[in-house]
Amino acid sequence: MPAIGVFALQGDVREHLTTLTALGADAFSVRRPEELARCDGLVLPGGESTTMGKLARTFDLLDPLRERVASGMPTFGTCAGMILLADRILDGVAGQETIGGIDMTVRRNAFGRQVDSFESDLDLKGLDRPVHAVFIRAPWVEEVGAGVEVLAEAEGHPVAVRQGRLMATSFHPEVADDGRIHRLFLDLVRQ
Ligand code: GLN
Repeated sequence: MPAIGVFALQGDVREHLTTLTALGADAFSVRRPEELARCDGLVLPGGESTTMGKLARTFDLLDPLRERVASGMPTFGTCAGMILLADRILDGVAGQETIGGIDMTVRRNAFGRQVDSFESDLDLKGLDRPVHAVFIRAPWVEEVGAGVEVLAEAEGHPVAVRQGRLMATSFHPEVADDGRIHRLFLDLVRQ
């Protein structure tokens, strides 16, 4: 049973814990470095990426997170979690800190210029049926490096990506009552 931590200083932690537990993972909240040390894999939830970065800094979790992700811990970020995993951010606030790890540029609140939140059925590489994707003030991926695989697109922009054992979606599979994307992540953890 893989030990999967969910970053829990801010964000929709409970939805991820519920989905991961239903899939048979040993899922628990991560607020302290000792909890991070227990993780075989980590989920960065949706929420507010600027607040998450600040709280991670305040609670001495940001540098340990950077170290674990850089040293290959499987990590899955959704929405704000995707922003935290991005090497580069557009429309971030001044001095916004991230964890980084995926060679991509994300634009915060990218769809929000037209509409704050929307839902859409998307084809996702590796799944045989479309996923129902819920976007809430979501980022999109503006540009990816050569090592990044695009798993899904919306409005002509990548919204699900994978690089090695790091995965990220602009949308929120944890609220969609469909465990298939979390299952893909657990497959990465078990590899
Ligand atoms: N707009 C948020 C941010 O920039 C992300 C929104 C979300 O996670 N639903 O952090």
